[in-house]
Amino acid sequence: MRNLSRRRIMEQAALLPGSALLAAETPPPARKLHVVVTGGHPGDPEYGCGGTIARYTDLGHDVALLYLNRGEGGIQGKPPAEVGAIRTAEAIQACEILKARPLFAGHTDGHSVVDQQHYAEFHQLIAAQKPDVVFAQWPIDGHADHRAISSLVYEAWLRMKKSFALYYYEVTTGEDTLQFAPTHYVDISAQAARKRTACYAHASQLPDKFFAIQEQVAKFRGVESGHTQAEAFVRHVQSPDFGLPLG
Ligand SMILES: [Zn+2]
Repeated sequence: MRNLSRRRIMEQAALLPGSALLAAETPPPARKLHVVVTGGHPGDPEYGCGGTIARYTDLGHDVALLYLNRGEGGIQGKPPAEVGAIRTAEAIQACEILKARPLFAGHTDGHSVVDQQHYAEFHQLIAAQKPDVVFAQWPIDGHADHRAISSLVYEAWLRMKKSFALYYYEVTTGEDTLQFAPTHYVDISAQAARKRTACYAHASQLPDKFFAIQEQVAKFRGVESGHTQAEAFVRHVQSPDFGLPLG
């Protein structure tokens, strides 16, 4: 297949249902994958990747949702410890809906620390999961906690010799994530209802407002990729070229 041009490969990829449209994608290995979806707060992985997470777990893959903090600052007028407990319970419920495992990185909402010590700690946390695929937030998101976890993931990826597939995702596009030009799409039409339930598990976080925005994004990404709803990703140009649940 050496003579097959990149353009031809991309055209063929575009013909596969549910496939990555803009870049050739090697099908994921038949073995069980270990996937880590990181997020600055409880809810970010679910909003940005909930349909994709459901596709992974339906295929029998292992998915951990790694939250940088417990969202302690997320309800005005309530003590951080109480809010953290509420939002931890919401995250656990969302993970149950998506059949994923919750993990918490131990930072404090709104006070993420990105320094050598925290790079090392986060690297150990990621390495312990032995991930095949990791999803990170977009490095120029509006929220500082999103940028922090993106930087922590990126440093772990470099320290692990770029050994896992690295994808970026979007949340509240236009308001939080900006200048996001997807390279890959995952059809989530059949998982949209379950994603909605997982997002609404974060009942303290105005789901009527924020899920409505995210659903608009999923429908727009669906228009772009030829599906009813889709989630969109940017794969790092030096990432291994596999990992999305296209089966
Ligand atoms: Zn967030």
